[in-house]
Amino acid sequence: MLKELYPSHIELSRSAFENNLSFFSDLIGEDVVFTSVIKGNAYGHGISRFVPMAEQCGISHFAVFSAEGAAEALKASSRESHIMIMGMISNEALEWAIENDISFFVFELDRLRAAVRSSEKVGKPARIHLHLETGMNRLGLEKSRLPEVVSIIEEAGDSLVVEGICTHYAGAESVGNHVRVTHQIERFGELFHWLEEQGVKAKYRHTACSAATLNYPETIMDMVRIGISQFGFWPNRETYMYYMKNNSNGRKRFKDPLKRVLSWKSKVMSIKQVEAGKFIGYGNVYLTSRDQTIATIPIGYSHGFGRNLTNVGIVLINGERAPVVGLVNMNLLTVDITDIPDVKKGDEVVIIGRQQDQEMTLASFSEMTNNMNYEVLVRLPSRLPRYIVD
Ligand SMILES: *Cc1c(COP(=O)(O)O)cnc(C)c1O
Repeated sequence: MLKELYPSHIELSRSAFENNLSFFSDLIGEDVVFTSVIKGNAYGHGISRFVPMAEQCGISHFAVFSAEGAAEALKASSRESHIMIMGMISNEALEWAIENDISFFVFELDRLRAAVRSSEKVGKPARIHLHLETGMNRLGLEKSRLPEVVSIIEEAGDSLVVEGICTHYAGAESVGNHVRVTHQIERFGELFHWLEEQGVKAKYRHTACSAATLNYPETIMDMVRIGISQFGFWPNRETYMYYMKNNSNGRKRFKDPLKRVLSWKSKVMSIKQVEAGKFIGYGNVYLTSRDQTIATIPIGYSHGFGRNLTNVGIVLINGERAPVVGLVNMNLLTVDITDIPDVKKGDEVVIIGRQQDQEMTLASFSEMTNNMNYEVLVRLPSRLPRYIVD
């Protein structure tokens, strides 16, 4: 991929990722498996570049939402990593998954029976994770179904390998859900023990996403499923505050232990002088109040830079903050560089990331638009190239 062909690009920092991995490894200990959750095109980081980098950093277990994500991860993966589908896979695709040693969540009897049939066809065991309903009320095997689950598993013999028993919490990032999550943790324990008594044993008990790992250490169990925080982001501000408060031990300079992996960069496309009293771009959204210098940047709402950042967004040029003036277009932004000296066509523009001593964090980017970290990230277009940097 020739960098020069693209209007902007994304950089992934290997050292930042390593930093986040070592943070989690201190938290979970050596015996717990870290599965890297890479749904949503690895939270916008790009599966095809992220997976090989993660493998080089020692990751060998990945979790995706769907069979399609699993196929992409399989293609990107350069060695014997395991891939686990947490969500959508059609019964028709189960044989493909089994052939490729991909494990998948089972949250209904229909899928469980289909898994047995597919395994018999392929002549290889299906590796399943029993996803238990504990109070999320979205996906999950109800308690009333478990006796039938047990008998299907018994009958299936070698066709099924129960790789995991798992659940997912309904918002471990917010104290507002504390009662609900606590009930879920208890419920999971009860159901797990009941299954164990029936002779259903699993290699991994796993329930924790980033927020649960950080806020409820008892949910760590045998494996954690870490999405957002491996990329250096806190699930929300509450989790960040809670962590910092409990771990700073009064140290004033206690720093955020996570590092942002991703940066988003472009270049100044063109520069123009505009007199006072003129409108910039479409319509009458921005009127110049003095003679102004305007730079055009080849990024727009088609790249995930929302129209709601019109007259509000900020980018970095020459280590200074340049405000967006006028409407965000499909492929273009206009920014005011009147007060930034010596800007030239081709100069680096940072949309997310650091430039000299200024930084645009994702939080500053998403707070301007009231979007969650998650949403801003996954909107980064998959067609922009990703590069690994140190
Ligand atoms: C997305 C997801 C995760 C990871 O969540 P983060 O908040 O990004 O850490 C874990 N488990 C399941 C089932 C998920 O869907």
